[in-house]
Amino acid sequence: MSGITILCYHKVGPIAEEGRFLNVEPSTLRQHVRFISRRNRIICAKELAHNWTDSAVCFTFDDAYESTMENAPRIFEEFQQRATFFPVAGLVGTSSVWDAEKARPLADWKVVLEAHKRGHEIGNHTTNHPHLNSISKEEQLHEVSSAHQTLVGQGLVPVTICYPYGGYNEDTLSVVQANGYAVGLSLRKGVASERDDRLALPRIAVGYSDSVPMLFYKMVMRPRLRKLGL
Ligand SMILES: [Zn+2]
Repeated sequence: MSGITILCYHKVGPIAEEGRFLNVEPSTLRQHVRFISRRNRIICAKELAHNWTDSAVCFTFDDAYESTMENAPRIFEEFQQRATFFPVAGLVGTSSVWDAEKARPLADWKVVLEAHKRGHEIGNHTTNHPHLNSISKEEQLHEVSSAHQTLVGQGLVPVTICYPYGGYNEDTLSVVQANGYAVGLSLRKGVASERDDRLALPRIAVGYSDSVPMLFYKMVMRPRLRKLGL
């Protein structure tokens, strides 16, 4: 496997509570972590700021849902691994209002900071979860820098940022750079390579029905088929 595979998850909870929308069962995540930790080095997103090992997998979790923070950190810890979580700084402890009628609870600061204390990475996911590429540069600056200040105020030192809905433009890149961010995650599909802009790295979205064979297909086979134009 060449390049860095950055996986994108959202909720991690039982189907009875979280449904299928943006969710994987805790047992599914455990199978993913077991499978990948036996074959690949697992890294946090911040490690991409300085080192590029060209063969590693990074698990990222957008929004820091309550279900995610309850289940994911301990699953990684079972395998002596760590993951990267992106809470929405202005909505921590409330609910994912941007999911409309599918809104679910977001973990509070106590839970987020506990995960950090146990070695997981906490990054910036803006203050209000806007589509950054549809607001002005000044509004983008406010979203990124106010979230940064909130995280710093909680004793965190964020160096990675994850763009809500994966949306970004040229203004976003200059805003995040000005705020000192070294790694930015989009939702452009694919495996990240050293040639990619470190502030706009691609990810692979993982869904409810992604069994281990499907994950393997998405991580290894599909990128190869794409390269061949198939
Ligand atoms: Zn999000």
